[in-house]
Amino acid sequence: MVSPIIMSMQYSFEFSGEIHKTDSIETGPEQVRKIFSEVYLDYKKISRKKITCTEFETVYFRSHTLNATLKVEEKRATLKLSARCLMQPETFHRALSHILWSRIFNCPCSEKHRNVWRYYESKNSAQNRLGISENKPGNFRKSEFHDLQEYSEKILKTYFPKLSKPVIVLWAKRAGRNRLGSYCVSGRKILINPVLDHPDVPGYVIKSVIFHELLHHIIPPEQSHGRKIYHTRFFRRTERVFPGYAESERWLREAFPSFLKKCRRKK
Ligand SMILES: [Zn+2]
Repeated sequence: MVSPIIMSMQYSFEFSGEIHKTDSIETGPEQVRKIFSEVYLDYKKISRKKITCTEFETVYFRSHTLNATLKVEEKRATLKLSARCLMQPETFHRALSHILWSRIFNCPCSEKHRNVWRYYESKNSAQNRLGISENKPGNFRKSEFHDLQEYSEKILKTYFPKLSKPVIVLWAKRAGRNRLGSYCVSGRKILINPVLDHPDVPGYVIKSVIFHELLHHIIPPEQSHGRKIYHTRFFRRTERVFPGYAESERWLREAFPSFLKKCRRKK
């Protein structure tokens, strides 16, 4: 039997699942590096200053501002960015790259780029004042690199617009060993493993985990030989509809094990 809630979910997939495909990947560290090296080439062409970079490195530091610095040493360009920058779109990174590279190359920077940067900077400080991008309930861990609240709001609005039972998405207090996320039926609460709140983890991985847990919220388990089956065929099929699903699975398979090793070594 298909419940009315699931029906309405299928309905919303047909209409919004495809449209938002390009939206699913935000400006992750890889993309930032790409924009940053593209803008470098633009300035290299127009400037008289002879600067050659063959390596581009991005380093993130914990901060709620949008601060960034750029240094060039022996053909190596190091861009240090606040973690908050990861939550900004491509336009922001392009503007920031122009501002930083124009200084290095001693070239004028167009007012257009400065205005873009100012726009995001004032938006970010307004959010900080209002405490918007923090998880509200005080007991839970705050977002440092990935804005969980923003991710879940967007997913809920796009894929579950007709959700009758509300659900909250939070970072778990502790990093568990095995689970990426969990869903608690009684509290209608989704907890995401805080190990994922890291700049090396692409946003689409976290979004896929949120999406997976939200499906548990609406797809009831099936009974088979006295056992509850949570990941039914229908569940798996529905899960694949999410635009970032395939990429997320690939990242978890190929990059996640070494990421975990790196995290554990640092502790
Ligand atoms: Zn599951």
